[in-house]
Amino acid sequence: MGEQSVHELVVTALTDLDHPTKRKVIEWAGDQLVDPKLIQRDVDCQLWEEGWQRAAEYGIIGAWVDEAYGGRGHDVVTSLLMFEGLGYGCRDAGLVFAMTTQAWTMQPMLERFGTEEQKQQYLPALVDGSKKAAFCITEAESGSDTFAMSTTFAETDDGGFVINGAKSYITMAPAADVFMVFATKDPSLGQWGVTTFLVDADTPGLTVGPNRPKMGLRTTPFSDVTFDNVEVGADQVLGSVGSGAAIFSASMEIERAFVLAPQIGAMERQLDETVAYSRQRQQFGQPIGDFQAVSHRLAEMKLRHDNSRLQLYRAAALFALGQPSMEAAALAKIQSSEAAVASSMDALLTHGAKGYVTEFGVEQDLRNVAGGVVYGGTADVQRNIVARMLGRRS
Ligand SMILES: Cc1cc2nc3c(=O)[nH]c(=O)nc-3n(C[C@H](O)[C@H](O)[C@H](O)COP(=O)(O)OP(=O)(O)OC[C@H]3O[C@@H](n4cnc5c(N)ncnc54)[C@H](O)[C@@H]3O)c2cc1C
Repeated sequence: MGEQSVHELVVTALTDLDHPTKRKVIEWAGDQLVDPKLIQRDVDCQLWEEGWQRAAEYGIIGAWVDEAYGGRGHDVVTSLLMFEGLGYGCRDAGLVFAMTTQAWTMQPMLERFGTEEQKQQYLPALVDGSKKAAFCITEAESGSDTFAMSTTFAETDDGGFVINGAKSYITMAPAADVFMVFATKDPSLGQWGVTTFLVDADTPGLTVGPNRPKMGLRTTPFSDVTFDNVEVGADQVLGSVGSGAAIFSASMEIERAFVLAPQIGAMERQLDETVAYSRQRQQFGQPIGDFQAVSHRLAEMKLRHDNSRLQLYRAAALFALGQPSMEAAALAKIQSSEAAVASSMDALLTHGAKGYVTEFGVEQDLRNVAGGVVYGGTADVQRNIVARMLGRRS
């Protein structure tokens, strides 16, 4: 993508809130990704398989994947506009989160670091919905301190590897067909010891734990994964032996910048609904939106949403131009994750009791967005990155 077209794409994305690419996905999702059983599936922690298939057929899971591997081959800005539209149009935030993590974490790493055979083996099946993937780095004792991991690998006599250990809080693990697993040769080597493996779910010794119910994003299955003498071949190494830290760092730069794009779409939908409610709901003989306390809350929601979009597409522009985007990505992650929590609280308050009662669908937003300040690196860890970058400049 040329510099000129990046500029044009980003300016159009930023200035046209009703961008046709985004609008098209909102309309499609509003028609095809509406599940009347959503509230019950949220209680039951169930993924909507049919919704996943519809999204795969529409092409959104493979929006950013090259056409050679079955994707749509869109540029990063167009793909983000599509995911923003998905977040607006689909109320099943768990389904959207599940697709987003695969599309913005696992697939780009496979496409960037995989061999031709690995890409051909997995990418077409991931984008057409016949396979699902999970990204495994976190462990019970190693969260923010990622490279303190204790899942190990050792070389076998036949040139393969054997993996032992356990990973925790893995999005989509109960539904995944393939796992991207980070393991260390020796925990004392820190980041220098880490290698990434592609492990099929049916490999002997790999066990997926039961789905762990959580506060929000409950329709995304999520569990621990254990590796008990799991044998893999040399052709299942992603990148090269010892390159795990570089792959993790590349994945985090993308994840922290872009994974909240659908949530920004959901913030816009939330604002539109809250504005509509504040016009319609009457108290003391007037619409509640005529009270300054309420209207200022709506203005704050608008400000947070706008700031989040600006940061998202600024990070996308830097990324597309090949310029350093680590600080912009960390700022975008802090801004949109915290803004979504604050705005969800404001939406809840504006809806009064309806905001708190499950059947009206407002309280779900608050539960769904709370995880955003934790996954993909906590807000504290993002601030560490920004502070470190500031220190570098002085
Ligand atoms: C919804 C959800 C989905 C997830 N999906 C995945 C997945 O698919 N794959 C995967 O591998 N993991 C996944 N995770 C795990 C996630 O990456 C970790 O939860 C996250 O990195 C934080 O680790 P932790 O939970 O161990 O918290 P800890 O690291 O123990 O942090 C606890 C507290 O200490 C603070 N803290 C820790 N270190 C520092 C520091 N250096 N400076 C300042 N403050 C610090 C944190 O900010 C936090 O407030 C998911 C988590 C959630 C909630």
